[in-house]
Amino acid sequence: MSEATQIVAIDGPAGAGKSTVARRVAQQLGFAFLDTGAMYRAATWRALKHAVDLDDPQTLAASTEAMNLVIEETPEGQRVLVDDEDVTQAIRTPEVTRLIFKLDQNSAVRRTLVELQRRFGERQPTVAEGRDIGTVVFPKAKCKIYLDASLECRTRRRADDLEKAGRPVDLDRLRDEIHERDEKSRNRADSPLRRADDALLVDTSDLSIDQVVTTLERLARERL
Ligand code: C5P
Repeated sequence: MSEATQIVAIDGPAGAGKSTVARRVAQQLGFAFLDTGAMYRAATWRALKHAVDLDDPQTLAASTEAMNLVIEETPEGQRVLVDDEDVTQAIRTPEVTRLIFKLDQNSAVRRTLVELQRRFGERQPTVAEGRDIGTVVFPKAKCKIYLDASLECRTRRRADDLEKAGRPVDLDRLRDEIHERDEKSRNRADSPLRRADDALLVDTSDLSIDQVVTTLERLARERL
């Protein structure tokens, strides 16, 4: 089978439920799961750890290129290692989230990560989720889905995640941050967040996780 027949590409804005849903769809299909957001998070964490000047594009690109990144799906959940250090929690801090935009607009950083993503997808059938999977990473994927939900709903979901992780939540601030992150993703020059012409739009605002998983699994089986 060629790469195009074995990829489920899932894109959408922050909080649309991509990771949770994509992971479960991958399990149902017996496919590997690729969380590309975790890769941008890991690259950002590494740059901060090495005190890289975030306004220096070349050093940022070199740091990303030098990164030894391992992402494992374990029964306890995802595990992320950067240069042998477990950064599973560290890549989810507000500081990392706030500063990702310094890397995600850097074309050399994107090239390095996209290359890793393509190699992953070529090795095995994959459900990949991110912002540019259907448009840039796997443009030939036969099953492309764009997951969306209202800003209010996405804010509520993120708040629930943070509360579960024991983090304090200011809803108004969270809503503003998500909105700002959306705008940055949509308006960047390289690989902006957008629905691929051949992607199916699924609005998850009024759907449960189970309903979204069932819908996506059905779409994947129909299209692959
Ligand atoms: O999905 P997650 O919130 O973990 O993604 C973190 C950030 O990484 C996004 O807000 C976006 O800035 C960036 N990203 C990206 N391209 C992807 C995946 C994530 O630019 N394919």
